[in-house]
Amino acid sequence: SYHPSNELLSHKLIGEISLNTDQERAVTAVHGSLLVLAGAGSGKTRVLTARAAHMIQTHQIEPESMMLVTFTSKAAREMKDRIIMINGLSSNKTKRLLTGTFHSIFYKILSFHQPGKWQGPNLIKWDWQKEQYVKQAGKELGLDEKEFPYDQALQQISFWKNTLLPEEKFVPKGDWEEKVHFLYRHYEKLKHERDQFDFDDMLLKCYELFKQEPHILKKYQERFHYFLVDEFQDINPIQYEMIKMLSAKSGNLCAVGDDDQSIYAFRGSDPSIILNFKKDFPNAEIVHLKKNYRSSHPIVSTAKQIISLNKHRYQKEITAHYERKEGPVVFSPYDEEVEATMIVNDMKEKMENGASPEDFAILYRTHANGRAVFERLHQSSIPFVMEQDHSSFYDRRIVKNLLAFMRLSLNPDHSEAASHLLSALFIKQSALNDLKALSIFHDCTLVEALGKLSNLLPFQQKKLNQIIPHFSKLQRYPPATAIEIIEKDMGFDDYVKKRGNEGNAIEKGSDEIKDLKVVAKKFDDLASFLEHIDHMRAAVQERRNLEKPKKAVQLMTIHRAKGLEFKNVYIVGAVDGSLPHDFALESLRKGENAPLEEERRLLYVAMTRAKHGLYVSMPTMRRGRKANPSRFLRPII
Ligand code: ATP
Ligand code: MG
Repeated sequence: SYHPSNELLSHKLIGEISLNTDQERAVTAVHGSLLVLAGAGSGKTRVLTARAAHMIQTHQIEPESMMLVTFTSKAAREMKDRIIMINGLSSNKTKRLLTGTFHSIFYKILSFHQPGKWQGPNLIKWDWQKEQYVKQAGKELGLDEKEFPYDQALQQISFWKNTLLPEEKFVPKGDWEEKVHFLYRHYEKLKHERDQFDFDDMLLKCYELFKQEPHILKKYQERFHYFLVDEFQDINPIQYEMIKMLSAKSGNLCAVGDDDQSIYAFRGSDPSIILNFKKDFPNAEIVHLKKNYRSSHPIVSTAKQIISLNKHRYQKEITAHYERKEGPVVFSPYDEEVEATMIVNDMKEKMENGASPEDFAILYRTHANGRAVFERLHQSSIPFVMEQDHSSFYDRRIVKNLLAFMRLSLNPDHSEAASHLLSALFIKQSALNDLKALSIFHDCTLVEALGKLSNLLPFQQKKLNQIIPHFSKLQRYPPATAIEIIEKDMGFDDYVKKRGNEGNAIEKGSDEIKDLKVVAKKFDDLASFLEHIDHMRAAVQERRNLEKPKKAVQLMTIHRAKGLEFKNVYIVGAVDGSLPHDFALESLRKGENAPLEEERRLLYVAMTRAKHGLYVSMPTMRRGRKANPSRFLRPII
């Protein structure tokens, strides 16, 4: 077979992927453990790709013996394609290189050894499905939902599963954790009874398999000799344990990451793992990359200045390689709506001057922050894509249930709205059939039939009596006022308090209503307001089925943008309460600094995505109230 000489290869490598001295060292130190700890845009991912290609080409390492772990499956695909391209068509065998996310790789292993047990259809994909399990578990244990927000419980459970606390070491902190732990066990039992599993199980069950069946672990230790992991700062303890187990025999683990970009603490990511790498791998070589090849000098230095204020971090040296002068631009639109309009207009102008849609990304802290931009872009002719897991803001439960009041005011026979109204009143859905029967029998509307419902609990009856008289007059008010009537006079406030932030741990129900009010202010009457909403709900639906345009503006949360780069980046909602998020500010008031530091890392990640243009927006109003520019921006404004 054909073995090109090393000289030729290194020429080719250097030719196709140019590397600086530090990068080259990381690429060519093939054996033993290696950590590349370096700032954003310094070529960590590039090094990992070049390294894999180099190992196959120059060292004739079998691709089958390598495992390359990335943060998303898309990144995995792209990296593999790149490696295949570098190695040329003659290296068909490169296709056998195993790449994927931790979840996809360990799930593959798990289902291979326990066939039939972990079948796709049995995977619990959606949060609401998990919620139903945890709800049932709660009911069976006699826990009160009101004192027990299930979304928070689920988050805690997931956190435990990812941080791998063995039973014997588990010491619940306080009453709440003790109860959640109870709930956890019951949740697992219910899931198990129905042969279902969640995402966390993909890792946990594989971990248990390795522990219980050492010969299986041994098999993989013998098959894989080289491990390459990107975005190592976001590894969580269970993933770390597994990669340690697998690489224990060969000792060839190469990890690249940036502790300043660790942004998944809520999933158990722990930046101390990357910072303590030397403890577990005392012989590891550590390489620092000091040149940023992505962004202009002012962007690099501003981002560095901001992140330097974090206390728990490794101080890294980083300077821009390119001397481009474009600096970050901060601006203050009036509110979320004006912000969206300004961003869309700015992009339009740039496109008229030759830019194309794929040169832009719009990043936000939470999906809720992306709503206005989505709406404005949808009304424009600019092609754009929004990350997949997005559902319409107007389909959030609290929002939907509030809108039901308005719909029933305009159309007292709206049966979908009637069903939402029942759920807002904590009345069983089976009552909907009674309602329909009553309306036929008495020849009246569904709203009128509400007053004739029987078999209600006293508190439900009281609520109904309180709200029925309001329906007919609700439509006389502008939508923003109508929302207030629904909240105060029709008692929706209570519902929000009780249901809290169900199914959406990051945005409180009361905040969603504030967001809804911002939209409502733009409309004079309920009909046009509801029409707009239905139009936008349909738009989200349609987009899901549409083929995604290749050249498009990208809309995504900052979390999703990790590892990516764009010519121009807009950061939406850089105000206190949004970035840093309210919950981090609450933690700070309780004396906890860690969540705030994670929020600062989020801003750092967002800023360092930009190659040329970086635009940071700090609206003066947020959710109808005066907002302060993000405290993180103080060093620069
Ligand atoms: P992040 O921390 O955001 O994941 P990273 O450290 O992984 O960033 P890369 O994405 O690998 O950085 O590289 C950033 C950009 O710089 C890419 O466009 C890459 O192609 C380019 N780059 C990296 N090293 C060099 C180099 N030696 N010469 C030219 N361009 C380079
Ligand atoms: Mg990278």
